[in-house]
Amino acid sequence: MAHTVELIAVGTELLLGNIANTDAQMLSQELSALGLNVYYHTVVGDNPQRLRAAVEQAAGRADIIITTGGLGPTCDDLTKNVLAAAFGRQLVPHRESAERIRAYFHRAGRVMTDNNLRQALLPQGCVVFPNDWGTAPGCAFEAGGRHVVMLPGPPSECLPMFRACAAPYLRGLSEGVILSRTLRVFGMGEAAVEEKLRREMNDLTNPTLAPYAKEGEVELRITAKADSDTGALALMVPVEARVRQVLGDLIYGVGVSSLEEVVLPLLEERGLTLGCAESCTGGLLAKRITDVPGASKVFRGSIISYCNDVKEGALGVDRKLLDTYGAVSPQVAEAMARGAARAMGCRVALATTGVAGPGADDQGNPQGLVYTALWTGEKALVRKLRITGGRGRVRLVAASHALDMARRWLTGLPERDFNQ
Ligand code: ATP
Ligand code: MG
Repeated sequence: MAHTVELIAVGTELLLGNIANTDAQMLSQELSALGLNVYYHTVVGDNPQRLRAAVEQAAGRADIIITTGGLGPTCDDLTKNVLAAAFGRQLVPHRESAERIRAYFHRAGRVMTDNNLRQALLPQGCVVFPNDWGTAPGCAFEAGGRHVVMLPGPPSECLPMFRACAAPYLRGLSEGVILSRTLRVFGMGEAAVEEKLRREMNDLTNPTLAPYAKEGEVELRITAKADSDTGALALMVPVEARVRQVLGDLIYGVGVSSLEEVVLPLLEERGLTLGCAESCTGGLLAKRITDVPGASKVFRGSIISYCNDVKEGALGVDRKLLDTYGAVSPQVAEAMARGAARAMGCRVALATTGVAGPGADDQGNPQGLVYTALWTGEKALVRKLRITGGRGRVRLVAASHALDMARRWLTGLPERDFNQ
């Protein structure tokens, strides 16, 4: 049977709009990677009657119910009581969890009150998910043909516990294995990708092929179900080959989450150092690069040269270029990249200059006109772009293009013309 999932987020804060239901977003992504279909997201306040009603409704339309929140020590944390009652389970003390909670408070040098031990009361016969990231343990049990999984609310506990405990539990429910591979695509919009692969996306059932739009990029996930890992991998091979045939080198990685994650190891392998000169991205490029652990091995720095004086003073961009072509020009983009390499003593440099908006700049350049440049140590390449969307998107996509230029050069691909 194909398992269907309903997520129930418990918390009045969610209903008041004080916090967003990011647990549901995270868990939905994780669940779809496991090949499980999420059919409903429900949000309910810290109210036992309404939570009970939500659980009963979920039990009528899903065979896996996953709750988040309300596992803690306070009196509004009622998820376990309500779920246990709804499925006819007693709550019983769980010794190991109680010990863990005691130890947690001891380590933190905090005084433990008795109600903290309420967290160690768990439905009889459940599988306990120890909480290595906080205090309240999670759990799972089966009752009446339904599987119930309870996870803590704080995202920093919910996600790691899902991955470490709930995902293996859920995998154990389906016969066979479900594997997925995620291909990341940059340089083509979601609509165009879907257009090109529509038949495969609609027709395939095992494996399935599904697109996920990311800001400025597309993620394609192939999910296969089989008796064994080898079987599932074998099912994915022809689908991946087909996707590669259609999208070619627009696919920049498998199982990676960003262009920067691909570019930095490529630089490291070749013993190259990188620096940036940023105008319209205002440091975003450097932020993304330094988000990757180990960036210091290749990244020397970024000069945020927002005004012309800094482009001239810190990067050595010739004033004549600025006066003749303006700051938003291929000439200045190239000079910025060269200047960054010179100023920071790095072999490779990236530069961005453009109009993030809103609206045109005072030279009449339209919003979204961006030049990105790559200096390889030997030659300069410049990309001219017209990026759609608001200020945030223009900056993000501009940074991605700069990284993509580096990615293409480092992997020996020809530079692409985005200026049709
Ligand atoms: P605790 O032991 O911290 O009390 P809990 O499991 O009882 O954990 P809640 O009390 O419901 O969880 O929520 C604790 C905090 O977790 C909330 O204040 C909120 O910051 C975060 N949180 C709860 N539910 C969600 C959710 N669905 N999405 C994102 N964050 C959430
Ligand atoms: Mg709580």
